[in-house]
Amino acid sequence: MERTKAVVCGATGMVGQVYVAMLSDHPWFELVGVAASERSAGRRYGDAARWYIPGEIPDVARSMTVLPCTADAVTATGATLVFSALPSDVAGPMEHSLADAGMAVVADTASHRMDADVPLIVPEVNADHLAALSVQRAGGRKGFIVTGPNCSTAALILSLKPLQAAFGIRRVIVVTMQALSGAGYAGVPSMAIVDNLIPFIRNEEEKIARETQKMLGSWSDGSFQPADIPVSASCNRVAVLEGHTESVLVELDRFASPEEVEQVLRDFQGEPQRLHLPTAPEHPVIVRAEPDRPQPRLDRLAGEPARARGMTAVAGRIRRDPAFVTGIKYTVLSHNTIRGAAGNAILTAELLAAKGLL
Ligand code: NAP
Repeated sequence: MERTKAVVCGATGMVGQVYVAMLSDHPWFELVGVAASERSAGRRYGDAARWYIPGEIPDVARSMTVLPCTADAVTATGATLVFSALPSDVAGPMEHSLADAGMAVVADTASHRMDADVPLIVPEVNADHLAALSVQRAGGRKGFIVTGPNCSTAALILSLKPLQAAFGIRRVIVVTMQALSGAGYAGVPSMAIVDNLIPFIRNEEEKIARETQKMLGSWSDGSFQPADIPVSASCNRVAVLEGHTESVLVELDRFASPEEVEQVLRDFQGEPQRLHLPTAPEHPVIVRAEPDRPQPRLDRLAGEPARARGMTAVAGRIRRDPAFVTGIKYTVLSHNTIRGAAGNAILTAELLAAKGLL
């Protein structure tokens, strides 16, 4: 099978580097270009990227000349697929122009997540929302835009979806402890975070609420119907490099024991598992039995087979909540730059390919 040619926009950044690593030997996608800001354009990728992932820069990318993130430069590579890891404040118009030029754009950025015709996808959770692409095409766009959620929403939604399906959900209260890489390389100065935590992440609480509602909602009659589930989030930045940990309280529609909840999480499977997509983890959620797990250092790279490392959300400490008759509390963790960004987007692109949409 001929591989689909792909370009990464924002390829020098925290998320962009994860794309480059994950695409360097991908069976379905061929990395043919790396693009970044004008500061990096024209330079060798190996010089422009301050590589932070353990191991060497993949050979396929090291000598590439960094492109500007323009439709002309990207189309000249022969690519038809673009992964966008641009800063949200510049991504909006760039992603539009790439889609208008005929590209399939799969974005980690917030710019188009809540657009009325843009699917916000975690493939195990709401693959059916891809139906919205027909509305984008009907609007005359040659390509399309698909987005993935904010990195904290990714872990949360993987645990909520099976609970919603099995028991129904009345409300969600979540407290996040988010890793430094979630803010980008230069995001949080060391003097601000060492021996400290920061109980504020701008716009994050609002994003978690509205993205969760969109993803747990439905696509019907040509529009998204968000789930009527109040979501209260409190977000904290902590001195962890990778992996967002979340304390979750869910009020279910009906009573379920911790054992039932655990079983439902363990049994959860989605389209990627049914379709055997290359980056699909065998289990989207695993449950740890130890009283002090999950922990970021130990659990962030969970996921089998090897290509799906970092794609599994790890839950633990499932217990009843004394404040709500049907309340369940647990901790859930996932890797923010893999499941929360590049890995989720690559899995989404695999889903698009498997459905003949690329
Ligand atoms: P980052 O480390 O700051 O990287 C930003 C990338 O965008 C770099 O490649 C940078 O290129 C490029 N860039 C900056 N300004 C540009 C411009 N005007 N035109 C073209 N390219 C430009 O950020 P990140 O953490 O990787 O995040 C990237 C995006 O993913 C953001 O929208 C973020 O919200 C989202 N996201 C991040 C995470 C996470 O865990 N980090 C998770 C989910 C979603 P230069 O090197 O040339 O400056």
